[in-house]
Amino acid sequence: MAEGLAALFPPGLAHLFFSDSGSTAVEVALKMALGFWAARGEARHRILVLDGSYHGDTIGAMSVGARGVFNAAYAPLLFDVGTIPFPGDDDALNALEAACRQRPAALIVEPLVLGAGGMRMYAPDRLSAMAAICARHGVLLIADEVMTGWGRTGTLTACEQAGVVPEIMCLSKGLTGGSLPLAVTLASEAIYDAHYAPDRARMFFHSSSYTANPIACAAAAANLTIWREEPILERIASVAAMQGEWVDRAADWPGVVNTRCLGTIAAFEVEDSRPGYLSTLGPSIKAKCAAAGVLLRPLGNTVYVMPPYCVTADDLAQVYGAIEAAITA
Ligand SMILES: *Cc1c(COP(=O)(O)O)cnc(C)c1O
Repeated sequence: MAEGLAALFPPGLAHLFFSDSGSTAVEVALKMALGFWAARGEARHRILVLDGSYHGDTIGAMSVGARGVFNAAYAPLLFDVGTIPFPGDDDALNALEAACRQRPAALIVEPLVLGAGGMRMYAPDRLSAMAAICARHGVLLIADEVMTGWGRTGTLTACEQAGVVPEIMCLSKGLTGGSLPLAVTLASEAIYDAHYAPDRARMFFHSSSYTANPIACAAAAANLTIWREEPILERIASVAAMQGEWVDRAADWPGVVNTRCLGTIAAFEVEDSRPGYLSTLGPSIKAKCAAAGVLLRPLGNTVYVMPPYCVTADDLAQVYGAIEAAITA
């Protein structure tokens, strides 16, 4: 399974470390970044993050994610980070450039889509520009592909669309096709070398009872076989086409704004006097859809459809119909 993964992902990410969830894959990534600088004897430990991002629910992952109602109670435990604006325009790149001059350890990004933060999408050239700035300043780039990986944005990874190979990449959700808990953090040769030494004090100190659990690994191996033998990318392209046509139609519905689609992810906002995570519109749309037999999870007033790739046109028609009825009601 490890060999299969290494063959599928860029050669620059040939070192793999297994864990059991997206959150732990992120914790591992952060520890790798700090371990890299510690091994070099450089005191670089600040992490840069994108405003509005989500990286998981453990303490380190929460620390690098957006602060809000869902982590306010734990704020005293969270570490300080440098926040870069959402990469919608040049301001974000200028802010990143300025922050990189302070010699941070790493920048962690959700490539092309900020998922739980509201399915906010940005262009591949923004990602490649951010990667170039990091490279220029020796700042490690961590790509959290937990949500975007495995074809979600139309390509195996979102980074691929920007021609970016980060130093560290986190994968989980699609790794076992969502069937069993498993995650992997991929690392570059430099990250690996920094931890590989006769001095055991430099080794990468992270393990858990379920690291590379054999049953979960068997599921990932089966998933790799599917990626090798079945026309996955064609299937993804056909889901993407249906999603794209749907959001174009949705743009005409009352109150629907910011329709967007990237690969198999379709999303829009429904105008609300109280937008954001605590919007009451989301729960009401959710309840109407549930009554029609469709489980939907709006993020505040953001409605999104992110189906499994085995979804059929009929399934999607049912989902689209329920959402349209709920919104027009
Ligand atoms: C879901 C998610 C995580 C956390 O993964 P878990 O398996 O739920 O811990 C981390 N990063 C991103 C981008 C995610 O979407």
